[in-house]
Amino acid sequence: MLKQGKMIILSGSSGSGKTTISNFLLSTIPSLQFSISCTTRPIRPCEIHKKDYFFLSNNEFINKINNHHFIEWEEVYPKLFYGTLKQEILRIWNSNYHVLFDVDVKGAINLKTKYPHNSLSIFLMVNSIKILENRLINRNSENYYKIYIRLKKAKIEYNLSKFFDIVLMNLDLFITKQKIFKIVSNFLFN
Ligand code: 5GP
Repeated sequence: MLKQGKMIILSGSSGSGKTTISNFLLSTIPSLQFSISCTTRPIRPCEIHKKDYFFLSNNEFINKINNHHFIEWEEVYPKLFYGTLKQEILRIWNSNYHVLFDVDVKGAINLKTKYPHNSLSIFLMVNSIKILENRLINRNSENYYKIYIRLKKAKIEYNLSKFFDIVLMNLDLFITKQKIFKIVSNFLFN
Protein backbone atom coordinates (compact mmCIF):
# COMPACT_ATOMS: atom_id res chain seq x y z
CA MET A 1 0.00 0.00 0.00
CA LEU A 2 1.09 3.55 -0.71
CA LYS A 3 2.85 5.34 2.09
CA GLN A 4 1.30 8.78 2.68
CA GLY A 5 3.87 11.44 3.47
CA LYS A 6 3.14 14.99 4.50
CA MET A 7 2.54 18.13 2.47
CA ILE A 8 3.63 21.72 2.83
CA ILE A 9 1.35 23.96 0.80
CA LEU A 10 2.98 27.32 0.23
CA SER A 11 0.87 30.10 -1.20
CA GLY A 12 0.53 33.86 -1.24
CA SER A 13 0.27 36.56 -3.83
CA SER A 14 2.61 36.90 -6.76
CA GLY A 15 5.63 38.88 -5.49
CA SER A 16 5.22 37.78 -1.86
CA GLY A 17 8.52 35.88 -1.95
CA LYS A 18 7.07 32.40 -2.43
CA THR A 19 9.69 31.18 -4.88
CA THR A 20 12.57 32.40 -2.69
CA ILE A 21 11.05 30.78 0.40
CA SER A 22 10.27 27.59 -1.48
CA ASN A 23 13.91 27.34 -2.68
CA PHE A 24 15.13 28.07 0.84
CA LEU A 25 12.99 25.24 2.30
CA LEU A 26 14.15 22.81 -0.38
CA SER A 27 17.80 23.61 0.29
CA THR A 28 17.55 23.40 4.09
CA ILE A 29 15.12 20.49 4.57
CA PRO A 30 16.43 17.56 2.54
CA SER A 31 13.32 15.41 3.06
CA LEU A 32 11.19 17.87 1.08
CA GLN A 33 10.68 17.63 -2.67
CA PHE A 34 9.03 20.16 -4.96
CA SER A 35 5.85 19.19 -6.75
CA ILE A 36 6.45 20.23 -10.36
CA SER A 37 3.23 21.68 -11.73
CA CYS A 38 1.97 21.84 -15.30
CA THR A 39 1.35 25.21 -16.90
CA THR A 40 0.34 26.66 -20.25
CA ARG A 41 2.16 29.95 -19.68
CA PRO A 42 5.26 30.59 -21.83
CA ILE A 43 8.59 29.53 -20.37
CA ARG A 44 10.75 32.38 -18.96
CA PRO A 45 14.45 32.60 -19.95
CA CYS A 46 15.68 31.47 -16.51
CA GLU A 47 13.36 28.44 -16.35
CA ILE A 48 13.90 24.77 -17.22
CA HIS A 49 11.21 22.47 -18.60
CA LYS A 50 10.44 19.55 -16.20
CA LYS A 51 12.30 21.29 -13.37
CA ASP A 52 10.36 24.51 -12.78
CA TYR A 53 7.21 23.38 -14.57
CA PHE A 54 6.02 20.98 -17.21
CA PHE A 55 5.32 23.56 -19.93
CA LEU A 56 2.34 22.28 -21.92
CA SER A 57 0.27 23.43 -24.90
CA ASN A 58 -3.41 24.17 -24.27
CA ASN A 59 -4.33 20.85 -25.90
CA GLU A 60 -1.92 18.88 -23.77
CA PHE A 61 -3.32 20.56 -20.67
CA ILE A 62 -6.94 19.88 -21.67
CA ASN A 63 -6.07 16.22 -22.32
CA LYS A 64 -4.74 15.93 -18.80
CA ILE A 65 -7.92 17.50 -17.40
CA ASN A 66 -10.07 15.06 -19.40
CA ASN A 67 -8.00 12.09 -18.27
CA HIS A 68 -8.25 13.15 -14.60
CA HIS A 69 -4.50 13.54 -14.19
CA PHE A 70 -4.82 16.60 -11.95
CA ILE A 71 -5.56 16.67 -8.23
CA GLU A 72 -6.37 20.36 -8.74
CA TRP A 73 -6.04 22.87 -11.55
CA GLU A 74 -6.88 26.54 -11.98
CA GLU A 75 -7.02 29.23 -14.62
CA VAL A 76 -4.71 31.31 -12.42
CA TYR A 77 -4.58 34.22 -14.89
CA PRO A 78 -6.87 34.71 -17.90
CA LYS A 79 -6.16 31.89 -20.37
CA LEU A 80 -3.17 30.65 -18.34
CA PHE A 81 -3.69 27.28 -16.71
CA TYR A 82 -1.78 25.68 -13.86
CA GLY A 83 -2.31 22.25 -12.34
CA THR A 84 -0.90 19.76 -9.86
CA LEU A 85 -0.44 16.22 -11.14
CA LYS A 86 -1.64 13.32 -8.96
CA GLN A 87 1.38 11.46 -10.28
CA GLU A 88 3.79 14.04 -8.82
CA ILE A 89 2.47 13.52 -5.30
CA LEU A 90 2.69 9.72 -5.66
CA ARG A 91 6.20 9.92 -7.11
CA ILE A 92 7.41 12.04 -4.19
CA TRP A 93 5.71 10.01 -1.45
CA ASN A 94 6.86 6.74 -3.01
CA SER A 95 10.45 7.98 -2.83
CA ASN A 96 9.96 8.66 0.89
CA TYR A 97 9.92 12.46 0.65
CA HIS A 98 7.38 15.00 1.83
CA VAL A 99 5.83 17.26 -0.81
CA LEU A 100 6.28 21.01 -1.15
CA PHE A 101 3.71 22.86 -3.27
CA ASP A 102 3.94 26.41 -4.58
CA VAL A 103 0.40 27.04 -5.75
CA ASP A 104 -2.09 29.88 -6.00
CA VAL A 105 -4.52 30.56 -3.17
CA LYS A 106 -7.48 28.61 -4.56
CA GLY A 107 -5.25 25.65 -5.41
CA ALA A 108 -3.85 25.73 -1.87
CA ILE A 109 -7.32 25.72 -0.30
CA ASN A 110 -8.34 22.82 -2.57
CA LEU A 111 -5.27 20.77 -1.62
CA LYS A 112 -5.82 21.48 2.08
CA THR A 113 -9.44 20.34 1.77
CA LYS A 114 -8.37 17.09 0.09
CA TYR A 115 -5.60 16.34 2.60
CA PRO A 116 -6.78 17.98 5.84
CA HIS A 117 -4.72 15.87 8.26
CA ASN A 118 -1.30 15.48 6.68
CA SER A 119 -0.92 18.96 5.18
CA LEU A 120 0.14 22.37 6.46
CA SER A 121 -0.97 25.39 4.45
CA ILE A 122 1.05 28.59 4.73
CA PHE A 123 0.01 31.96 3.30
CA LEU A 124 2.91 34.36 2.71
CA MET A 125 1.88 37.95 2.92
CA VAL A 126 3.42 41.36 2.31
CA ASN A 127 1.96 44.15 4.39
CA SER A 128 0.92 46.42 1.58
CA ILE A 129 -0.07 46.32 -2.04
CA LYS A 130 2.57 49.05 -2.66
CA ILE A 131 5.40 46.76 -1.52
CA LEU A 132 3.99 44.01 -3.70
CA GLU A 133 3.92 46.38 -6.68
CA ASN A 134 7.56 47.37 -6.11
CA ARG A 135 8.67 43.75 -5.85
CA LEU A 136 6.88 42.86 -9.06
CA ILE A 137 8.34 45.84 -10.91
CA ASN A 138 11.85 45.08 -9.62
CA ARG A 139 11.51 41.49 -10.76
CA ASN A 140 11.32 42.96 -14.25
CA SER A 141 9.67 39.93 -15.82
CA GLU A 142 6.16 41.26 -16.38
CA ASN A 143 4.82 44.22 -18.31
CA TYR A 144 2.66 46.79 -16.55
CA TYR A 145 -0.71 45.35 -17.63
CA LYS A 146 0.28 41.96 -16.25
CA ILE A 147 1.36 43.62 -13.00
CA TYR A 148 -2.06 45.30 -12.78
CA ILE A 149 -3.78 41.91 -13.21
CA ARG A 150 -1.55 40.33 -10.55
CA LEU A 151 -2.20 43.17 -8.07
CA LYS A 152 -5.95 42.92 -8.56
CA LYS A 153 -5.75 39.24 -7.86
CA ALA A 154 -3.58 39.89 -4.78
CA LYS A 155 -6.35 41.97 -3.19
CA ILE A 156 -8.85 39.14 -3.62
CA GLU A 157 -6.34 36.64 -2.25
CA TYR A 158 -5.76 38.60 0.97
CA ASN A 159 -9.40 37.96 1.83
CA LEU A 160 -8.87 34.21 1.52
CA SER A 161 -5.87 34.06 3.85
CA LYS A 162 -8.18 33.17 6.75
CA PHE A 163 -8.56 29.66 5.33
CA PHE A 164 -4.86 28.89 5.87
CA ASP A 165 -3.25 27.12 8.84
CA ILE A 166 -0.53 29.77 9.05
CA VAL A 167 -0.35 33.36 7.77
CA LEU A 168 3.21 34.66 7.68
CA MET A 169 4.12 38.29 7.04
CA ASN A 170 7.22 38.46 4.83
CA LEU A 171 8.75 41.84 5.68
CA ASP A 172 12.32 40.78 6.39
CA LEU A 173 13.51 37.79 4.39
CA PHE A 174 16.04 36.68 7.00
CA ILE A 175 13.41 36.60 9.76
CA THR A 176 10.81 34.96 7.52
CA LYS A 177 13.29 32.19 6.68
CA GLN A 178 13.99 31.54 10.36
CA LYS A 179 10.29 31.44 11.22
CA ILE A 180 9.26 29.23 8.35
CA PHE A 181 12.11 26.79 8.95
CA LYS A 182 10.86 26.27 12.52
CA ILE A 183 7.20 25.98 11.51
CA VAL A 184 7.86 23.46 8.74
CA SER A 185 10.35 21.39 10.76
CA ASN A 186 7.89 21.16 13.67
CA PHE A 187 5.13 19.99 11.37
CA LEU A 188 7.23 17.42 9.53
CA PHE A 189 9.25 15.96 12.37
CA ASN A 190 7.11 16.24 15.54
P1 5GP B 1 4.19 31.94 -12.07
O1 5GP B 1 3.58 32.10 -13.43
O2 5GP B 1 4.63 33.26 -11.50
O3 5GP B 1 5.24 30.87 -12.01
O4 5GP B 1 3.02 31.40 -11.12
C1 5GP B 1 1.82 32.07 -11.08
C2 5GP B 1 0.99 31.51 -9.97
O5 5GP B 1 0.56 30.16 -10.25
C3 5GP B 1 1.71 31.43 -8.62
O6 5GP B 1 0.84 31.93 -7.63
C4 5GP B 1 1.94 29.95 -8.42
O7 5GP B 1 1.98 29.62 -7.05
C5 5GP B 1 0.70 29.39 -9.09
N1 5GP B 1 0.81 27.96 -9.41
C6 5GP B 1 1.91 27.29 -9.81
N2 5GP B 1 1.64 25.99 -9.98
C7 5GP B 1 0.33 25.83 -9.66
C8 5GP B 1 -0.54 24.69 -9.62
O8 5GP B 1 -0.19 23.55 -9.91
N3 5GP B 1 -1.83 24.92 -9.26
C9 5GP B 1 -2.29 26.15 -8.92
N4 5GP B 1 -3.57 26.25 -8.54
N5 5GP B 1 -1.50 27.24 -8.94
C10 5GP B 1 -0.20 27.08 -9.33
